Amino acid sequence: MVRVRFAPSPTGQLHIGGARTALFNYLFAKKHNGKFILRIEDTDLERSRKEWAEGIMKSLKWLGIEWDEGPDVGGEFGPYFQSQRKEIYLEYIQKLLEEGKAYYCFCTQEEIEREREIARQQKIPYKYSKKCRNISLEEAKKRIENGEKAVVRIKAPVEGTTVVHDIIRGDVEFSNDQLDDFIILKSDGNPTYNFVCVIDDYLMKISHVIRAEEHLSNTPKQLIIYEALNIQPPQFAHVPMILAPDRSKLSKRHGATSVEEFFENGYLKEAIVNYLLLLGWSPGEDRTIISLEEAIQKFELEKVSKNAAIYDINKLTWINGYYLKEIDLDDLYERMKYFYSKKGIDISSFDKEYVKSVLKLVREKVKTLVEVVSASTYFFDSNYEYEQKGVEKYFTADNLKCLQLLLDDLKNVQPFSAEEIEKLVRSKAEEFNTKAANLIHTIRMCISGRTVTPGLFEMMEVLGKDEVIRRIEKTLK
Ligand code: GLU
Repeated sequence: MVRVRFAPSPTGQLHIGGARTALFNYLFAKKHNGKFILRIEDTDLERSRKEWAEGIMKSLKWLGIEWDEGPDVGGEFGPYFQSQRKEIYLEYIQKLLEEGKAYYCFCTQEEIEREREIARQQKIPYKYSKKCRNISLEEAKKRIENGEKAVVRIKAPVEGTTVVHDIIRGDVEFSNDQLDDFIILKSDGNPTYNFVCVIDDYLMKISHVIRAEEHLSNTPKQLIIYEALNIQPPQFAHVPMILAPDRSKLSKRHGATSVEEFFENGYLKEAIVNYLLLLGWSPGEDRTIISLEEAIQKFELEKVSKNAAIYDINKLTWINGYYLKEIDLDDLYERMKYFYSKKGIDISSFDKEYVKSVLKLVREKVKTLVEVVSASTYFFDSNYEYEQKGVEKYFTADNLKCLQLLLDDLKNVQPFSAEEIEKLVRSKAEEFNTKAANLIHTIRMCISGRTVTPGLFEMMEVLGKDEVIRRIEKTLK
């Protein structure tokens, strides 16, 4: 049975890298009829916050990446917050201590710092001297009873190699002499990430650990813990990093990087999911558009790239524009409510069919939901300012005179359709001996205040005759 997990630390919003890891886990689980588990790694009590955990869950749900077991839905192997599992971890630490596979270390901060300093001077990587390795458990317990502070370290092998069999990368070898007797229980009584991760992956019966490449260096340490506990490790797959276009680490200065920010910036979940799919994986045939359903069918871990993926906001935005035109209008209407309300526009106070026809028209030219709003405010509010450059260019005496002459005919257009309006405007332009463009630009300025809008005749049809006439008359006054 395939069982995979996404194990975020709730120390911030869900980053696109995390969302991509979650998505690959989800695809793999779905493809193999397995289970996808969400585990919140909140052992770093200082940096973890409940609000972040909630935010991450909200973002995942919004993207449609739902889990079979996890904090809110529960499951057989809970609790799914690491902060609620401390007793379990301590039991396993005790077991390792008793079996002599881990030991208490009493070295003080100062002693460790002195060792580090010597390593620095010798220009060699620091490794703990293993001074406390041979203190017996009885003696150690006595010292602890006497109030001495200790950490617990694992007895790591000193020679040979540890090999990570990685589904994406093949075998990655780590020389054991690089390994340290690393700490598994801190002096404050809290176990460390590598330790709790192993215990949870084991107890939650995880079959495949699919996680970010940055954790590859943790994997040999985790394998040593599996070995010490005499348990079978899961299979591993480390998905490639996501870098900025200049190949630096992706950060705030590259713009939005969290799912929440993308939502606020008017990106669609379908587009984000589609884009994330392409970060390190490809459905083949050089395709860009792929649905989640199809990706589930086609996804293979073996086909995930070893190379870093380059984050390309232009590609994401292009994909967003694609889905924006595809999405069902009723659905778009619902999603738009929030974005209009942020600009003080309550679209539910307008006729729904009217709003939908505005959306249909406007979405052709823009790529995000935020842009839909800015491209369409004048459909909902006629108190717009006229763009200065348009006033100078189009509100000339000649143009306004022609418009005045056109007004009565405009009132008689029947039906008030883009086609009929266009016919009238073009024939009148000829009659007035002026260019149709002059009339078109001038009307556009009158009814929107703008020099750039969707096609004028379609826009007039959507606004309707009464409103168009009202706006032109208001301008001509
Ligand atoms: N909690 C770790 C992180 O957020 C994930 C560790 C793992 O997947 O093993 O980076």
